[in-house]
Amino acid sequence: MQGKCAIVTGAARGIGLATTDVLLEMGWRIAMADIDTEELEDAAAARDGVLAITVDVSDPDDVRRMVDRTTGWAGRLDGLVNNAGVANFAPVEQTSFETWREIMSTNLDGPFLCTQAALPALKETCGAVVNIASISGLRASTLRVAYGTSKAGVVHLSRQHAAELGEYGIRVNCVCPGPVRTKLAMAVHTQEIIDAYHDAIPLNRYGTEREIAEVVAFLLSEKASYVTGQILAADGGFESTGVGLP
Ligand code: NAD
Repeated sequence: MQGKCAIVTGAARGIGLATTDVLLEMGWRIAMADIDTEELEDAAAARDGVLAITVDVSDPDDVRRMVDRTTGWAGRLDGLVNNAGVANFAPVEQTSFETWREIMSTNLDGPFLCTQAALPALKETCGAVVNIASISGLRASTLRVAYGTSKAGVVHLSRQHAAELGEYGIRVNCVCPGPVRTKLAMAVHTQEIIDAYHDAIPLNRYGTEREIAEVVAFLLSEKASYVTGQILAADGGFESTGVGLP
């Protein structure tokens, strides 16, 4: 088969689905990987040039199978988008250890495991990785002890991987989205948080899935061939200001 191939985790909906669509428009083939089999199969059935793979990115065996199935299908792997994520907003004292572990295992163990499993295939193509962190990984605010810490880990994991994998021609970059009205965000954004974001973001609005996906696709593409180890906030300018959040 011709053409580049990428794995997008968390591809069943939201930012991962939008990223799948932008990459498909660019001629890539996409292994859509997600834990939600039903939503994944529906999304994949509506698209050509995709392979649907049910995976829990925090499970090493699942992740190895995901990479094997992808290379078996496409014969190559040129890109990995570590996008699957979960969120929990709660005060420190109300964040259970179970919740902490759940957030860490999907948001931080996931990108570690997926990148490690994909490495042999990515070395063959001098491929690229894009990790999806968050503005919550760049700046601390209340309620985000588990989520924000996991995403700060993803930011640094991206730098570690970029430093070490450059010798194989593998680029690793990180996108930190601002707020986007996805299922994940709307489950934790109260009206108070929504209003605060509108005030704090210079563009005074939430972003769209597509606006994040375009940045991810750029970093994955050859257009960014000399860009690695970068942390790019796609956030309407939020990170450039010092305005706080509740
Ligand atoms: P979403 O809930 O729409 O999509 C997340 C997807 O990840 C879902 O399809 C879900 O089934 C999948 N997923 C969850 N756990 C998984 C696991 N263990 N294994 C495989 N798949 C799993 O949310 P979204 O907003 O599109 O989130 C995508 C990424 O963007 C996440 O990493 C999130 O933290 C990040 N992000 C989102 C926002 C926002 O405001 N929406 C802001 C900053 C960062």
